[in-house]
Amino acid sequence: MTDTDDIFVTGLRNAHAMENQALSIMKPQVSRIENYPEVAHRLQQHITETEGQIQRLEQILEGLGESRSMLKDAVLSVGGAMATIGHTVAPDEIIKNSIANFAFENYEIAAYKSLLALANQASNSSATSLLQQNLQEELSMAEWLDQNIETVTLKYAALRESGQSAKK
Ligand code: MG
Ligand code: FE
Repeated sequence: MTDTDDIFVTGLRNAHAMENQALSIMKPQVSRIENYPEVAHRLQQHITETEGQIQRLEQILEGLGESRSMLKDAVLSVGGAMATIGHTVAPDEIIKNSIANFAFENYEIAAYKSLLALANQASNSSATSLLQQNLQEELSMAEWLDQNIETVTLKYAALRESGQSAKK
C-alpha cells in the first residue's frame, strides 16, 4: 500500500467515525424536539441519509480490502473534533443545536472534499461516485440549516414572548 492509499483509508475510517458521531448527535435531538416539527422532519431525513452514507463508506473500504470488523474501533474517535455540540440542558438548545449542526455539516463537507481529492487522483471512479453522493447530501443539509437558522431563532423568540414552551 502506498502512502497515499494509506492516507485515503485513514480518511475513510475517520469519515466512518464522523458519520457515527453524526447519528449520535442527531438521534437524541430528534427525540427531544416538541415545538419545531420542521426541524425534526429534516433531521430524521438526514439520519436516514447518514445511515446510507455509512454503507457507502463501508462499500469503498471493502473495495480497498479493508474489513468491516476493523471499523468498530474508529467509532467515537472523532471525540473532540466538534466539542461544542451537545447543549441539551440550555434553555435555547434549539438555537444552539441549529448553530452546532451547521458547523458539523460544514466539517463533513470539508472531510468529503478531502477524500474526493484522493479518490480523483487515484482514478477510483466508484469511490468518487459514492463520495460525491455523500457530499451532495451534506451540502443539501448545510444549505437547509443555513436557511433555517433565522426561522428557528425567530420562532423561539416568538414562543418565548407568548409564554409558550420554546426550549425544544
Ligand atoms: Mg454525513
Ligand atoms: Fe451530514
